[in-house]
Amino acid sequence: LAIFEVRDLWAYYNEKPAIRKVSLKIPEKKITAIMGPSGCGKTTFIRCLNRLHELTPGASIKGEILLRDKNILEMDPVLVRRKIGMVFQRPNPFPTMTIYDNVIAGYKLLGVRLKREEADRIVEEALRKAALWDEVKDSLHKRGTYLSGGQQQRLCIARALAVKPEVLLMDEPTSALDPKSTAKIEELIVELKRSVTIVIVTHNIAQAGRVADYTAFFYLGELVEFGPTSEIFTVP
Ligand code: ADP
Ligand code: ADP
Repeated sequence: LAIFEVRDLWAYYNEKPAIRKVSLKIPEKKITAIMGPSGCGKTTFIRCLNRLHELTPGASIKGEILLRDKNILEMDPVLVRRKIGMVFQRPNPFPTMTIYDNVIAGYKLLGVRLKREEADRIVEEALRKAALWDEVKDSLHKRGTYLSGGQQQRLCIARALAVKPEVLLMDEPTSALDPKSTAKIEELIVELKRSVTIVIVTHNIAQAGRVADYTAFFYLGELVEFGPTSEIFTVP
């Protein structure tokens, strides 16, 4: 069952196409890896899925992206980003905020004022889902940037999960991390797919093999392969 159905998607920077006529169904509650050489459009593609692409000066987009049959290109972009969370290559907790405030930052950005107990509950739940609670529960009022790189990335995952998105987009989430932190985050990603659909950009074939149920290969802005990861990586 697909959560996203992308139809004839084109994405441009100053009229120059970076995504060319891509059609793809992204399966729900599965992990889909987006792979391909540098510059093939991986980041542009996932930034279309939460309408970040259109915020780039000179960028435009054409086609349809159906999220459960509703075209997100016709929805309020703020609402889209509420449903489609994102984690970036470099951990980017808000530098002046505490761990606690980072986790509920999504609500602040949406202008939602939470009651204290409700915020406490959301913070604990999101940090537990991100496998970070035990490490930070006694330092919630320290700055997020005081954590290690791997912890900061898990904090960013908690921040994304806190608003209960339907999809979590991850743009090379481990490429700035050491092998131990990477292994921890891979384990977490696999655990998360019970509750959320994940689309992960990765350069790393071994990582796609370890975490992804499906793999899409892009080349020069086109989708050239898509299927179960085991079939994509099997030489006939
Ligand atoms: P990947 O993530 O696979 O490395 P990108 O999506 O970053 O690929 O880039 C796809 C193409 O779009 C590349 O040719 C790149 O140079 C171009 N591109 C990316 N970002 C911009 C931008 N902000 N302005 C102009 N061109 C861009
Ligand atoms: P200020 O008006 O100084 O910006 P804040 O919005 O930072 O105040 O809130 C002060 C404290 O209240 C924060 O440190 C946090 O613990 C709590 N808080 C902030 N925003 C929320 C929210 N949306 N829901 C629940 N608690 C919040």
